[in-house]
Amino acid sequence: MNQYMVCIYIESIDVKVNKDSLDLIAISNKFKREYGFKTCGLVICNTKYQESLCELVGDLELDEIHVEHNENIFFYDEEIYTDMLYGFYEEHKPLLVLGGNTVHSKTVLARFSYRAMIGMCADCVDFWIKDNKVYTMRPIYNGTMFADICTKENQCMVCTVRKNLFEYKRETDIEPLIKVGKQSGIHQLEQIITDIVDVRNDEKKHNKIMIGIGNGIGNIDNVNKVLHIAQTLFADVGGTRMVIENSWLPKSSQIGLSGKILKDYDLYIALGISGAYQHVCGVLKCKTIIAINLDENCEMFRYSDVGIVGEVEDALNVLERVFRSEKESIKESSYGCKFDD
Ligand SMILES: Cc1cc2nc3c(=O)[nH]c(=O)nc-3n(C[C@H](O)[C@H](O)[C@H](O)COP(=O)(O)OP(=O)(O)OC[C@H]3O[C@@H](n4cnc5c(N)ncnc54)[C@H](O)[C@@H]3O)c2cc1C
Repeated sequence: MNQYMVCIYIESIDVKVNKDSLDLIAISNKFKREYGFKTCGLVICNTKYQESLCELVGDLELDEIHVEHNENIFFYDEEIYTDMLYGFYEEHKPLLVLGGNTVHSKTVLARFSYRAMIGMCADCVDFWIKDNKVYTMRPIYNGTMFADICTKENQCMVCTVRKNLFEYKRETDIEPLIKVGKQSGIHQLEQIITDIVDVRNDEKKHNKIMIGIGNGIGNIDNVNKVLHIAQTLFADVGGTRMVIENSWLPKSSQIGLSGKILKDYDLYIALGISGAYQHVCGVLKCKTIIAINLDENCEMFRYSDVGIVGEVEDALNVLERVFRSEKESIKESSYGCKFDD
């Protein structure tokens, strides 16, 4: 059987490439990693920009790049783009075609999906494969619910992707603070936290840390412990929707699809968080993710650089122990965790 292909429609204006399209590489990389898909980027441009665009996109982390050109593309002409995308589809038969959430991509992909008689779904937030079917998830009813949508077996799906959810980083750009194997035991936590503190104390680096609290934290006393630890670590604190619903944290600190999307954080520590996608999509841009959870099969570990199977209580004791000694060494600071209400 031929290898399945995921195709990213890379939008360009003159010799500039749209960043939203590049971020889609994060999704194609997931398809490559988890399902063995071939990844491919398609750029459609005027012939005179072909060479420059080839240079620009040539070293992207994709298995194949196709820069298709046409000397008649001077102005935005939906028909030509649609024809060329359709021609590409007929030749390569990708199983998933992804575009950014822009007017251009939405228009061209919609015209293409009609021409090819393929289902299209807009504003998607997650993608996966099950039983040879492509699945996607998108918000419905004004974002109050999510719907899973799938194709028939081995049938192509065309999707545009919600803005700012995914971020493409080259593997070489990613420098995790700590590297230890997944599924390490709770006994390793002390070393990991000490490493974080060491990095934090290096004044040349101003690492931003967020501690995420999930339902597994158990009670308000443990939440207060986290707030205390966060102050010592100069970290921010946020939580899952369950935690907000329990009134353990204010609504303004909810992280996720219906809360805030974290940007610029170097480290996210997830305490007792199951890893529902509605939460995870808010933390995917954090450089390093450490998760502590009792359930070794929890979804949160799938998205973590370090997964620690263990009790949140034990983790808090370790964190407190490390930071108690740390606090004494900190002279003064005006930075701490803050809530709006
Ligand atoms: C429309 C919609 C929008 C949503 N938006 C958001 C959003 O923006 N943000 C968000 O977070 N959620 C959102 N949700 C909710 C989301 O689907 C999940 O229900 C929620 O994220 C789960 O929170 P949780 O992981 O804290 O709780 P749970 O699912 O209850 O998970 C608790 C985890 O803690 C672990 N655990 C339990 N005890 C311990 C212990 N002692 N030590 C260690 N681990 C332990 C468990 O193994 C489990 O994995 C939304 C849902 C909908 C329908």
